Amino acid sequence: MYKTFLTINRKEAGYRPVMERITDFGEVEQTLNSEDRMLQASRCMDCGIPFCHWSCPLGNIMPEWQDALSKGKWQQAYELLISTNNFPEFTGRVCPALCEKGCVLMLSEQQPVTIRENEAAVAEHAFQEDYIIPHPPASRTGKKVAIIGSGPAGLAAADMLNRQGHTVTVYEKEEAIGGLLRFGIPDFKLNKNIIDRRLSILEKEGIIFECNVEVGKEGSIKRFFERFDAVCLAIGAGQPRDLPVEGRDLQGIHFALELLQQQNRVIAGGNIAFSQLISAKNKRVLVIGGGDTGSDCVGTSIRHKAAKVTQIEIMPKPPVGTNPDTPWPTYPNTLKTSSSHLEGCERRWNLATKRFIGEKGKVKGVEVVEVEWIKTEDGKLSMKETGKSEIIKAELVLLCMGFLHPVHEGLLNNLGVNYDSRGNVAAIKPNMSSIPNVFVAGDVTTGASLVVRAIDSGRKAAAEINKFLKS
Ligand SMILES: Cc1cc2nc3c(=O)[nH]c(=O)nc-3n(C[C@H](O)[C@H](O)[C@H](O)COP(=O)(O)OP(=O)(O)OC[C@H]3O[C@@H](n4cnc5c(N)ncnc54)[C@H](O)[C@@H]3O)c2cc1C
Repeated sequence: MYKTFLTINRKEAGYRPVMERITDFGEVEQTLNSEDRMLQASRCMDCGIPFCHWSCPLGNIMPEWQDALSKGKWQQAYELLISTNNFPEFTGRVCPALCEKGCVLMLSEQQPVTIRENEAAVAEHAFQEDYIIPHPPASRTGKKVAIIGSGPAGLAAADMLNRQGHTVTVYEKEEAIGGLLRFGIPDFKLNKNIIDRRLSILEKEGIIFECNVEVGKEGSIKRFFERFDAVCLAIGAGQPRDLPVEGRDLQGIHFALELLQQQNRVIAGGNIAFSQLISAKNKRVLVIGGGDTGSDCVGTSIRHKAAKVTQIEIMPKPPVGTNPDTPWPTYPNTLKTSSSHLEGCERRWNLATKRFIGEKGKVKGVEVVEVEWIKTEDGKLSMKETGKSEIIKAELVLLCMGFLHPVHEGLLNNLGVNYDSRGNVAAIKPNMSSIPNVFVAGDVTTGASLVVRAIDSGRKAAAEINKFLKS
């Protein structure tokens, strides 16, 4: 290490200019040149206790691969990275980088090492230099595993089990592999050829992918399950939180994923009937929900050329910079401004939705009321309406209030798995459902979370399945 943190500031690659990027769905983030990238890695202090490593759900060994990168040992950096993370090219693009929030340099004018960008750069270099090549297992164990769901959890589990020599088939109900990476996260954050590139390696390594198969929808699940020695449920947490207030059935009110999935399909060349197209063009768009999914809807609406985009949130505006309630090295609950917000969006907080107002069956506005949050004696927040209400005009409303739990109808109910108190599939032992050879990975058991946590959960499920198959 060169201790360059004393002399070199954090330098982010930044985004493409707003006026350029809103005319397309290409990735918004830029890249640094290799020299700057290595200098950024050299800012790592190689802390005695690396909180970055502690903060990362995957336990990525940041100081080690920053050191390799800073010395120009790109391949070594990649090998260190891949030893804990199957898909650094995904997390390097979309991870909220819990590691950077735990970086000790975060305490110094909030200038942590650019770990996430470094990760993307190391992964890109690895693909460009062709040292990511298929490594099929030397022999096969004869054991068969079905992974149901092809998001990051399912893919990580499949990768780890295939490396052990088990024969792995991934079943996906949609027409393409990737879960929310493919049909959720917008292309301007994650270009889909990044997924295809990895899939081509996994396929050459022997993983079998079956699309357009909704397991458990029809036919006997028992017979399906009997074909495998173990099954892993990785179907995500797809039940969106609804807003069942007056006027909910008006036209023009959609769940976030209805828009986002459709947009990703349009970009992939999918054929969507004109009558089914959701368009924000020339409309006033109201995004209800102040989180990341909402922000993705903001960016998508702006690219549709919406007349105006407003994003509202029921909770108070988080503090800017630091928050004493979530001190370092925990992930801070502070105001986050995404690339989409910077493209032109009004953001408001402390607003609860009372009803949707329509005309001729179509939404025209939303009545909202101001709320305030009072801390009760036990430290919890209690919401109170102030009585101040208004109507926000909107011809398109997008509901982005998160996800409750996995979809129960179909596979899960037919299978008869137990649920936890939040409606996720309960794990009675690590990563094992209440049915002995049925394992669980990702959002289906943790509840809606992050790509990095899904990969981690997939790796852990694979380890448990491997132990089970060898017992
Ligand atoms: C709009 C949006 C943006 C997001 N952005 C980010 C981000 O920037 N960074 C981040 O870290 N996280 C982000 N997340 C969260 C992240 O995408 C998820 O936490 C992660 O994808 C969960 O992975 P998973 O493998 O558990 O499930 P999923 O990715 O949901 O994949 C589950 C798959 O299972 C399939 N499936 C379901 N039922 C069946 C069945 N019966 N048979 C066969 N297949 C089935 C589904 O079609 C789906 O493809 C975002 C989420 C959303 C909704």
